[in-house]
Amino acid sequence: MAAAAAAKIVEVRETTRVERIGAHSHIRGLGLDESLEARHVSQGMVGQVAARRAVGIVLQMVRDGRIAGRAILLAGQPGTGKTALATALAAALGHDTPFTSMAGSEIYSLEMSKTEALTQAIRKSIGVRIKEESEIIEGEVVEVQIERPATGVGTKVGKLILKTTDMETVYDLGSKMIDSILKEKVQSGDVITIDKATGKITRLGRSFARARDYDATGQQTRFVQCPEGELQKRKEVVHTVTLHEIDVINSRTHGFLALFSEEGKAEIIPGVLFVDEVHMLDIECFSFLNRALENEMSPIVIMATNRGITKIRGTTYKSPHGIPLDLLDRTVIIPTQPYEEKELREILCIRCEEEDCQMTDNALTVLTRICKETSLRYGMQLIMTSSLIARKRKAHEVDVEDIKRAYQLFFDEGRSVQFLREYQQEFMFNEMDVKDDLEM
Ligand code: ATP
Repeated sequence: MAAAAAAKIVEVRETTRVERIGAHSHIRGLGLDESLEARHVSQGMVGQVAARRAVGIVLQMVRDGRIAGRAILLAGQPGTGKTALATALAAALGHDTPFTSMAGSEIYSLEMSKTEALTQAIRKSIGVRIKEESEIIEGEVVEVQIERPATGVGTKVGKLILKTTDMETVYDLGSKMIDSILKEKVQSGDVITIDKATGKITRLGRSFARARDYDATGQQTRFVQCPEGELQKRKEVVHTVTLHEIDVINSRTHGFLALFSEEGKAEIIPGVLFVDEVHMLDIECFSFLNRALENEMSPIVIMATNRGITKIRGTTYKSPHGIPLDLLDRTVIIPTQPYEEKELREILCIRCEEEDCQMTDNALTVLTRICKETSLRYGMQLIMTSSLIARKRKAHEVDVEDIKRAYQLFFDEGRSVQFLREYQQEFMFNEMDVKDDLEM
């Protein structure tokens, strides 16, 4: 760990990009129950039950810290929810586990080499949990002595004897603590807490054990029960940063590494690196990833692809999903299945709600049928377009005619290809052979 942190990077350039807004905004988690079984519709996720369950097991392994250096491949047809599953995993992991999402094509940049971009993505996916112990001591005040200087000016000095579960401790009082004591009017028999990091003293009330002594005075006071064993409390403050954030801070300022000077203060937590469209990586990147996975600090790498047997970029060889066999060999594959009509309808329904669009039942049935014939993505695009068309005719609900209009105005991929086939002569630079089946 120290070696990795000490690998000082002079200047860290950021890979920045704008996230597509909202395609997965309806997803809030994996929608699993306590035994990691997928509920049919939950947390914005619909169906795809086996894959969700498999990702749930990955989630459990990440939480248990038992899965560093593994690779997982989500493989399935376009629009079967591979990216949705990764988004759901990120949501379920919460903020404390680093999750980085990138598309394979993002590594091709003029500003950074491919391996530099991959290294950065990996370091964004490894967290460092830094523990700061702020010690809060709770106890009963045996005695407070504060001496004011005889002249009335100068610093006050004092002592505080505090009884905790196991012992009585004498504290020399600093000026901050004295101010706190005077402000809180602390006296013998009070139960207080001292924050050792800040010196702040808080008066909780009077000790229950002494209640009788003070009852006689008739004072209006709140008594605090301090049962044995509960007198001393410790509070821990935990921050998580990623190795990449440390690189950034380290490249700008000095001395940040002092954080790690104390043994046991920092702990490495492998997070998740999601590489969508992984077939866009080339052979050099795959080989780099393969090596990186062997490192014990490595994050879990989740890849997604919709490709079948295809060429590995940068070679003339073909392999399943365009991934070299040695990397595939250390990868577990989670397949995603095409949706049934009922599931498509439910996903569309959730998206309508997300996009604030009211739709009649009939319109939803037509839209579901369109999804089945074309693609889920195309159907989802028609929600907003048909909703704008409905608004134009001052209707509050999208009806069948609005869907039809949107369908006529905006082509799906199939009709667009058909159109090009029919009118290819009219276009400039047409290189398509009529028999081409447009496979990429
Ligand atoms: P591609 O291979 O083209 O990248 P994909 O498998 O990654 O496709 P997604 O982008 O995840 O597909 O899915 C398309 C849309 O459908 C997204 O908006 C996604 O949020 C939504 N979606 C997919 N599956 C589900 C599901 N099971 N529950 C809810 N929404 C889903």
